Amino acid sequence: MPLYEYNCPHCDVTFELLRPFSRADDAAPCPECQGIDTRRKVSTFASFSKGSDGTTTRVGGGGCAGCASGGCATCNHHH
Ligand SMILES: [Zn+2]
Repeated sequence: MPLYEYNCPHCDVTFELLRPFSRADDAAPCPECQGIDTRRKVSTFASFSKGSDGTTTRVGGGGCAGCASGGCATCNHHH
């Protein structure tokens, strides 16, 4: 079961949920405000890259899924 990251734009909090692929786009309630106006970020599977020395490096992190591929100028998530 993949681990998904969600971000609540109201609280600016990021949280993770384990859920099946079929529910990836379901609403994920924010742990802070219980709101469901949250955004799914790239899955953990996709946000890790393996280095040549065998270590796993987390890519992105602070930004949203759109930011990870460049900058906030190219994504519609306003920080
Ligand atoms: Zn929230």
